[in-house]
Amino acid sequence: MPPALPDMDAEARQAADLYSWRVPSVWAKRIDWHNPNDPLRRQVMPSAAELQSVAGFTVDPLAEHGEQRVPGLLQKYAGRVLLQVSGHCPIHCRYCFRRHDTYANLPHDRATWAPALQWIAQDPSIHEVVLSGGDPLMVADRHLAELVQSLAAIPHLLRLRVHSRMPVVAPKRVGVRLLRGLTTTRLTPVLVIHCNHAAELDAAVLAGLARLQQAGILVLNQSVLLRGVNDDADTLVALCETLVNHRVLPYYLHLLDPVAGAAHFQVDRERARALILELQARLPGYAVPKLVWEQPGQSSKVAVDLGKTLA
Ligand code: SF4
Repeated sequence: MPPALPDMDAEARQAADLYSWRVPSVWAKRIDWHNPNDPLRRQVMPSAAELQSVAGFTVDPLAEHGEQRVPGLLQKYAGRVLLQVSGHCPIHCRYCFRRHDTYANLPHDRATWAPALQWIAQDPSIHEVVLSGGDPLMVADRHLAELVQSLAAIPHLLRLRVHSRMPVVAPKRVGVRLLRGLTTTRLTPVLVIHCNHAAELDAAVLAGLARLQQAGILVLNQSVLLRGVNDDADTLVALCETLVNHRVLPYYLHLLDPVAGAAHFQVDRERARALILELQARLPGYAVPKLVWEQPGQSSKVAVDLGKTLA
């Protein structure tokens, strides 16, 4: 368990009242609790900065509230739908764009998933379902396997994608029953982990990623560019190299979504652009993530204009 929070002043406690503090023990063990700048600590520690109101930072930055087609189902882009199957997470990332989401009325079992399954079944243009949350791997293996089986019964679906931070924050979750549940249908399984810093990738995490790959799951990573966590080139190079060395492709590097309470994590666009150009100069192309941001109403994520690119 993490130690008693050392520098939790009254305002930080107030921040934790607004968005609770949650850190799994395996993650807490990787933190140097005496270092206020520890990159893992910074991602999870409540702070007074969260209480500041900053223009442009809102409780629903991606305008998701009220956009569900049926409970739990969002369609942002053509050919894919996002199915939120859990409102819970093993960790509370202070910069999370859904930190104000109450996750009301999310489906959670066979009966409540039925409307979403029917909605997907009636649209043959949908080829991929993205399981999201919260964290979809908070759902028990048995229920998850049932859901995957139901999705696989929809003929026009081809791929199952899971967005989860669980393999990074609680690697024991990657067990035999989970792997079986994700891989024993005709759907091509893709798992997108969320890792922001190479220090998150300890031996247990890397072993879990290897189990996913050995089971035939394509593993990708997405990161968020966070001030004071990974906003320097050496840190990003170390992250990308560690990922690629373990056969995980860096997929996206997201600019921070402007969610209320997280403005202190923002890295400005010019700095982000300079960092990616440096990554392009130092890494093979396949090891450089796409620098993107999400804008409500766009038909895809928006790539940040790099101006000039290197060969
Ligand atoms: S794991 Fe993902 S959804 Fe959960 S708090 Fe962190 S960023 Fe948000």
